[in-house]
Amino acid sequence: MQIYIDGKYYDKENAKISVFDHGALYGDGVFEGIRVYGGKIFKTVEHIDRLWDSAKAIRLEIPMSKEELTKVMEETVALNEVNDGYIRLIVTRGVGDLGLDPDKCKTPSIIIIAAGIALYPPELYDKGLEIVTVSSPRIHPASLSPRIKSLNYLNNILAKIEGKQAGCIEALMLNHKGELAECTGDNIFLVRKGRLMTPPPNAGILEGITRNCVMDLAREMGAEVLEIPLTKYDAYVADECFLTGSAAEVIAVVKIDGRVIGDGKPGPMTRELKARFVKLTQS
Ligand code: PMP
Repeated sequence: MQIYIDGKYYDKENAKISVFDHGALYGDGVFEGIRVYGGKIFKTVEHIDRLWDSAKAIRLEIPMSKEELTKVMEETVALNEVNDGYIRLIVTRGVGDLGLDPDKCKTPSIIIIAAGIALYPPELYDKGLEIVTVSSPRIHPASLSPRIKSLNYLNNILAKIEGKQAGCIEALMLNHKGELAECTGDNIFLVRKGRLMTPPPNAGILEGITRNCVMDLAREMGAEVLEIPLTKYDAYVADECFLTGSAAEVIAVVKIDGRVIGDGKPGPMTRELKARFVKLTQS
C-alpha cells in the first residue's frame, strides 16, 4: 500500500506524521471518507466541496486547489490499484507546538489512504440492523457544528461505546433538543405511509453525501421526501428505517430500542432505494 503524505508516497510502515501535528494533538483537521467503485471515485465533486467547506469553517486553508487534490486522489487510487474500495482523505492543521494556537502551524498536511473497505457483515445487509438510542447527545451545533467533518470523532466514539455495550453495532444519537440526529457514522431515514423522512441539516447532523444521493433517488421514484425534525416516537412507529453512509451505503434497520420496525424485515422502499443506489454506483 502506498500512502500519500504531502507530495510523497510511503509504504504503510513508513507513512508517519509528526507527534506535534495538531491533527494528532487536538483533532484539529478535517477529512472525507470516499468510495471507489469500478476504479472510479464516487461523488468526487461533492466530497471535495464538503472538505473545502469543513476546512473553511475551521479557518484552515488547504494548500492545494480542488483540481490538484482531485488529481492526486486519482493518482493514489491508480497507484494502489484500488478497484472497489475506500479513500480516506485527511487535512490536518500541520506541525505546531504544544499550545492550541493554530497560527503556530505553518502548513497543513494532506494525507490520502486508498484501501479496501470493511463493511458491516454481509448478512446484516439482508436481515437489517438492530440499533439503540444512546444517552450521549450529538454535539450541540453551536459548540461545534456536526456539519464540519472534523478529525475529532469522540462524540461519535462515546455513542459507539454505549451502543456496543447494549449489544448493537450502531447507535442512534439524539440532538440537544432530544430529536433524532444521526448514527455514529451514518445518516438515518424513516419511511411512514410512503413518505421518506430524515432530519434536516440544522438538526445537528453531517449532511451526508449518500443521504443527498438517496433523497434524489427517492424523488425520482416519485416518493415524497421530507427533511423534518423527528422524534424517537416517529422512529418507533415507522414502517421502515434505514441508514446511509459512504462506507455503509444503504442498510436497513429492523429494531430500534427493542421495538420491531415494520414487519422486522427490510421494507420495500429501503430495498428499492438500495437497488437504485447500487445501480448508480455501477453506472
Ligand atoms: N454522519 C456521520 C457522523 C458520518 O461520519 C458520516 C460519514 N461516515 C455520515 C453521516 C454519512 O455521510 P456520507 O454519506 O457523506 O458518507
